[in-house]
Amino acid sequence: MKTSKHNPKTKFIFITGGVLSSLGKGLAAASIGALLESRGLTITLQKLDPYINVDPGTMNPFQHGEVYVTDDGAETDLDLGHYERYTGAKLGQKHNYTSGRIYYSVITKERQGKYLGGTVQVIPHITDEIKKAINQLDGDADVAIVEIGGTIGDIESLPFLEAIRQFRLDVGRENTIYIHVTWVPYLKAAGEVKTKPTQHSVKELRAIGIQPDILLCRTETQLSLELKSKISLFCNVPTDAVITAQDVESIYEVPLRFHEEGLDKKILELLNVWTGAPRIEPWQELVRKIKNPSHRVLIGIIGKYVDLKESYKSLHEALVHGGVANDAQVELRYVHAEELEEKSAAELLSGCHGILVPGGFGSRGVKGKIKGITYARENKIPFFGICLGMQLAVVEFARTAGMKDANSNEFTADTKHPVIYLMKEWFDHRTNKKQVRDESSEMGGTLRLGSYPCKLHKNTFAYEAYGQDEINERHRHRYEFNGEFRDKLVKNGLIISGVSPDDTLVEIVELKDHPWFLGCQFHPEFQSSPMRPHPLFRNFIRAGLEFSRKS
Ligand code: GLN
Repeated sequence: MKTSKHNPKTKFIFITGGVLSSLGKGLAAASIGALLESRGLTITLQKLDPYINVDPGTMNPFQHGEVYVTDDGAETDLDLGHYERYTGAKLGQKHNYTSGRIYYSVITKERQGKYLGGTVQVIPHITDEIKKAINQLDGDADVAIVEIGGTIGDIESLPFLEAIRQFRLDVGRENTIYIHVTWVPYLKAAGEVKTKPTQHSVKELRAIGIQPDILLCRTETQLSLELKSKISLFCNVPTDAVITAQDVESIYEVPLRFHEEGLDKKILELLNVWTGAPRIEPWQELVRKIKNPSHRVLIGIIGKYVDLKESYKSLHEALVHGGVANDAQVELRYVHAEELEEKSAAELLSGCHGILVPGGFGSRGVKGKIKGITYARENKIPFFGICLGMQLAVVEFARTAGMKDANSNEFTADTKHPVIYLMKEWFDHRTNKKQVRDESSEMGGTLRLGSYPCKLHKNTFAYEAYGQDEINERHRHRYEFNGEFRDKLVKNGLIISGVSPDDTLVEIVELKDHPWFLGCQFHPEFQSSPMRPHPLFRNFIRAGLEFSRKS
């Protein structure tokens, strides 16, 4: 398919990265979104990832960071989490494409004979498919921000860069801008800031036909006018489009710093868009709160991927938001679940004002997680179990209620009490279809994914937090609470505070005679943002603060 020249309803901002990875391209895209939104524009965002996996669903979070789940059940790159946290944009399947997904659809069409015997090539077939993916955003918002993953110079990102180069030709200069995020290091030995890596990166970009309009220079210190002029001259970008992206204490400062540097003004000038002044007060207020908390609370997180904060990105942020809502700084102690199997819970968890067991897959560290749950339950320390954390809280409870061999079928088939099991068939309220799966179903294809409604029962921690009868939360799991044991567990004191509208699926469990003990089958962290802290995280942190005052 050829994408013809057209006049788009939406303006497009393309963001590329140079020199090295981890420069914060995703945060830059999200912050630009926040600033444009604060000027009254509607925005949408998209991430194009050059790797071959069709989506990040099957990727190890240790390698790639968290898998972020959207309302429509897309398993996406964690940058979409930043986008949704910083802006009001609602994202889904069409906002994250990988090379794998693009190739998959081209190859499928080729097999169906749709190319009528023609030779299928990277240019134009792959690039057309990429442009088609980008063009889906046209009309969705005033501005679309499209981030290209990877670093300039990578072989695998070339088709994406070629596609965005062509895109300007298709829709016109005034409808597109290219922003390049680059690194300007400070060399201690020389006592100097170096611009050469940036020069090379821009040279590389120009070699493939893209002249950046704006450079976002990641630095430790503010760039002097002199340095900006030097970069301007060598990179062929006006001085006022050379923007300092200085390291900041809190990631929520980024929009403010960009604004001080004149970035939003420059973008609008280049896109020929007129708006009022931005309303950045809420961001100023947020940063003020984050930087001057009155209280402190220590939360222990018992996990598997403890070494890599990226694997729990949204969770980490949701806890920060919970802190903001309580005027508290949330300190995290990452506790390795396997270490907890060896050592005493008191040794690793004492001093924590709250204990959280996040989502996870596989049996490694499960014993340690259960040990941590017992410790939280017995010592009446606020406890929050998310997805696997909720399932293990149910297992732990069942074991103390006399079902000694209680377990999840994820870890053993050999139990008389599979309190967490694989539902073979269920009615999917989101898609209005019956879903079927068994142990041999394909990985990735059988998860309960995306947003599902949940009814809350009154006089529970859950109801107290949300203050409403029905909520919608995002899921990503295969196993479920086994209804066969529901009555027995309830008789023994387990509170079921959230269920699917037809009452078949248990979504939230709690304990009474405990200051705050709640496990939810969904992932609330995906819907928390600094401006709208999630009610469960807000109340968990509040319970932690109350615990800290008593201890
Ligand atoms: N492994 C569990 C399941 O598949 C929990 C998944 C999760 O925590 N996201 O149901």
